[in-house]
Amino acid sequence: MDLASVSVNLTDLAAEAKRPDPAEVYDLLVLGGGPAAMTAVLYAARKMMKLAMVTYDFGGQMAETSEIENYMGYRFVTGLDLTDKFKEQVQQFDIPIAWGQKVTAVRRGDGRFTVETDQGGAFQARTLILATGKRYRLLGVPGEKELAGHGVAYCPTCDAPFFKNKVVFIAGGGNSAFTAALDLVKVARDVTMLNFAADWQADPILQQAVERFGDRVKRLDQQHVLAIEGNGRVESVRVQDRRTGEERSLPADGVFIEIGLTSNSEPFAGFVELNEKKEVVVDCATRTNVPGVFGAGDLTTVPYKQIVISTGEGAKAALAAYDYLIHRGLL
Ligand SMILES: Cc1cc2nc3c(=O)[nH]c(=O)nc-3n(C[C@H](O)[C@H](O)[C@H](O)COP(=O)(O)OP(=O)(O)OC[C@H]3O[C@@H](n4cnc5c(N)ncnc54)[C@H](O)[C@@H]3O)c2cc1C
Repeated sequence: MDLASVSVNLTDLAAEAKRPDPAEVYDLLVLGGGPAAMTAVLYAARKMMKLAMVTYDFGGQMAETSEIENYMGYRFVTGLDLTDKFKEQVQQFDIPIAWGQKVTAVRRGDGRFTVETDQGGAFQARTLILATGKRYRLLGVPGEKELAGHGVAYCPTCDAPFFKNKVVFIAGGGNSAFTAALDLVKVARDVTMLNFAADWQADPILQQAVERFGDRVKRLDQQHVLAIEGNGRVESVRVQDRRTGEERSLPADGVFIEIGLTSNSEPFAGFVELNEKKEVVVDCATRTNVPGVFGAGDLTTVPYKQIVISTGEGAKAALAAYDYLIHRGLL
């Protein structure tokens, strides 16, 4: 690829991109389309690597975020606008993209990797960047999907400031629920934790930190969240007391679902090392245990899942893949 011939094309990335050639052996295949993957593509393209991308969508979790206030360069930006900015930057390069396809499996052999997709695609490369991210575990109750971004939230680090002086509930009783409580108690008027179980599973140190706020964080155990209610915005959360069977609707401005995240690592199980959270284990240079395979962003063991961290890791992964190929005389 010749950087001098790069032209800015602002039409839709998905519609315009050519598809990867199954007969080609690429230098690099980037799997995923979130901040980590898009940044990896940018860095690899600028290194003139012959690369392609396989992704289900663009933006990933970032595209689902209504308001972002902690990405440098923007005091405020919506997730969709920031995704468009990332897409514009990727679009400068004529990268083949298998879009709307989910990676289902990865195989290794004959000095290359083969990536298979749910659309019957099979693409080959000498290096891979795994960047398929995470998804929040959903409660799966009525109202949750409909009111997501309208009072239903998942990321306290990102969204707590939007609940200033509001009445919020947190569904969950583990570490992420208690971490959410610590974020929310500083801004919200009223914070109540709803735990399905009788026991609170968070680390004692986190529980003690929350206890220091006394009644400002209320804790209700054995509460089954049945529904999140509201007309265009959260108005109440419907719960059932598992001891008595009594049902009631508790007035609410917001509900944080804090029952954990799930890694999109299913296609990589048995191919690279995963930890107990099914995250891809990487070292500080994004290397996995399989030479030539790198991991970036929320999918990996790197802590603190944020856009700025995923973009940094995506950049590192592309540079690491480049170094890998250069040092083997493959570029
Ligand atoms: C509601 C919400 C609000 C947030 N707010 C903020 C915020 O304000 N600030 C902040 O810094 N962070 C925020 N975050 C966290 C941030 O969005 C993530 O840390 C970041 O998006 C992770 O980027 P990633 O590229 O590693 O993974 P993801 O964003 O998870 O992207 C993964 C990509 O891989 C694709 N993919 C998944 N599986 C497959 C597959 N099998 N085959 C092909 N493609 C696949 C997905 O379609 C997606 O494109 C928020 C997250 C959420 C959910």
